[in-house]
Amino acid sequence: MGRRVYRYAGRDWPDPRDTRAWRALRDRVVSEEPTCRLRIVGVCTTVSTTADHIIPVPERPDLAMERTNHRGACASCNRARSNLPDSALVKDSARPAPALEIFRC
Ligand SMILES: [Zn+2]
Repeated sequence: MGRRVYRYAGRDWPDPRDTRAWRALRDRVVSEEPTCRLRIVGVCTTVSTTADHIIPVPERPDLAMERTNHRGACASCNRARSNLPDSALVKDSARPAPALEIFRC
């Protein structure tokens, strides 16, 4: 089975999400952002195990490997979000994850 290819800006972009480079980037995002940043109500398991593309890959495949286009996310939130825009999500932002408390001033 070949990799999915997205057409953008006049060229083809193979989906990088089954490559070694992608897994390394995902591991970096998870270690830098260990608490899920999606926090979808009724879905979130709090602990990041995946990297979510802020701008979905089909929309901007050129950003698929950009660190700044990623955020740590739990698998449940990442799956639930799929390619939805942030505005479509009901987030649990009123109740920050316990791990985030230490960063408060
Ligand atoms: Zn989550």
